[in-house]
Amino acid sequence: MDSPSANQPDGMERRGTGGWDSVLETEAYHVTPGGEWRSELWRVAVTQFNQAADLLGLGADARARLLEPRRALVANFPIRRDSGEMQSLTGYRVQHTFALGPTKGGVRYAPGVSLGECAALALWMSLKCALLGLPFGGAKGGVRCDPNRLSPAEMERITRRFASELVPVIGPDQDIPAPDMATGEQEMSWFMDTYSQHVGHPTPGIVTGKPIVLGGTEGRKAATGLGATICAEAMMGRLGRDIATSRVTIQGFGNVGSVIAKELYERGATVVALCDVTGGIVNPEGIDVDEALSWVAENRFLRGFPGGAEATRGGMLETPCDVLVPAALECQITAENASRLDCGLIVEAANGPTTPEADEILAERGIPIVPDLLANAGGVTVSYFEWAQDQQRYSWQAEEITARLRSHLEAAMERIAEAADRFDVGWRKAGQAVAIARVAEAARLRSVYP
Ligand code: NAD
Repeated sequence: MDSPSANQPDGMERRGTGGWDSVLETEAYHVTPGGEWRSELWRVAVTQFNQAADLLGLGADARARLLEPRRALVANFPIRRDSGEMQSLTGYRVQHTFALGPTKGGVRYAPGVSLGECAALALWMSLKCALLGLPFGGAKGGVRCDPNRLSPAEMERITRRFASELVPVIGPDQDIPAPDMATGEQEMSWFMDTYSQHVGHPTPGIVTGKPIVLGGTEGRKAATGLGATICAEAMMGRLGRDIATSRVTIQGFGNVGSVIAKELYERGATVVALCDVTGGIVNPEGIDVDEALSWVAENRFLRGFPGGAEATRGGMLETPCDVLVPAALECQITAENASRLDCGLIVEAANGPTTPEADEILAERGIPIVPDLLANAGGVTVSYFEWAQDQQRYSWQAEEITARLRSHLEAAMERIAEAADRFDVGWRKAGQAVAIARVAEAARLRSVYP
């Protein structure tokens, strides 16, 4: 056996009885750099990041500094079910970078929530804020649970307990949560109340996506869907097409998907396929979106909606259409189904709906993509307006919010289009390159502490 001081710098001795080197070399103890975040979504995020970093010629040090999250909190906590039973849940909050300002990002409740998923989503939030020119870094969090099996009282207990676990690491100038999958105005109200009780004074700026009466803003509820609609309309215009005469397929009929369906329907588009977690509806003649919304308001899910033929969740994605809008989950367009999609444009309202392998197939097929960084950035943009209003204790008119949202999105679109021309790449790589360059510049100027 080696002596305890073997391989040690002069004057330093390892504590213990030695034999450490062989232990550390054992594969079971070997964690690769970044291994903490390992997940399918992190793989997708790293692949996309590296493709854009290659365009910028970023070195290994800059990549490592910009890629991995600054910090994360993992909390295991019990909640009481309505039945009286206790259940242990795990929640996460990942804060990606503070280079550009406090961190910002949603909170989701879903069965697949993990540290690695939150890390990927937090990185994308950083890049989204940078692309849109917002003074935030990215964060993301959530609780691993099945929200479809929870009562409102259980949702409240989860939200309040999760919020209290996060109190040490969040704040209006530190990290500002917002809604994401299965969370909305009610969860943000409980969140804001819990935080305010902890700090001893009302703190509306702790979350965005609140009801207006609690310091929320005009336009936040519909902002992500409206932003995606503005992007779809503008991109169709660039392709020489009119959204009013287009056929649209939308996967997901929640906060985001239902607003896109309604906005596009009102602009004259024909919604030929819709789906939610319970299955899909296809109607080549067009689905009456108002009826679908009323059905879901009464029945919670699309299942059983009589306005079209039933389809599977996967099958409805292949419905022939002009615009396909994934607005549900990540990794829905993959190497397995990308060659069968029958659409002229993809608008990524969801985060990370397309894998890098599918990206290549779609590029070969000449199907353009409005990437998630831009297509769903309406949400964080209006969240920024809400936060700015909370900080000023002042509220803006609805028209002002919509006009500012449109101008932020159009400016980001111009930045992407310019980079796409300059690098001769698609909009995903172009958008990521613009964003990474901005975060890299901020990190460079702030330099290294101490
Ligand atoms: P939501 O929970 O309100 O809605 C999700 C929808 O997807 C529901 O209709 C649900 O039934 C459906 N769904 C769930 N699993 C499905 C499956 N396997 N197949 C088909 N449909 C399924 O969530 P949301 O807030 O609308 O978020 C949707 C996407 O948009 C997510 O990727 C989210 O990260 C992204 N996003 C949301 C916001 C926001 O402001 N809410 C902002 C930016 C991005």
